[in-house]
Amino acid sequence: MVIDPVCGMEIEEEEAAASRTYKGKTYYFCSQACREEFDEAPEDYIDEY
Ligand SMILES: [Zn+2]
Repeated sequence: MVIDPVCGMEIEEEEAAASRTYKGKTYYFCSQACREEFDEAPEDYIDEY
């Protein structure tokens, strides 16, 4: 299971509607809309410092 960083939903990687690699890490999204939001401001959705 992975967490969609935009909406917080738990999803299976193979069922993710979209994914995006950012700074060497791959993020998975429940929908294209969540991926688009992530693309607008990735830093807002990454909890790492
Ligand atoms: Zn989502």
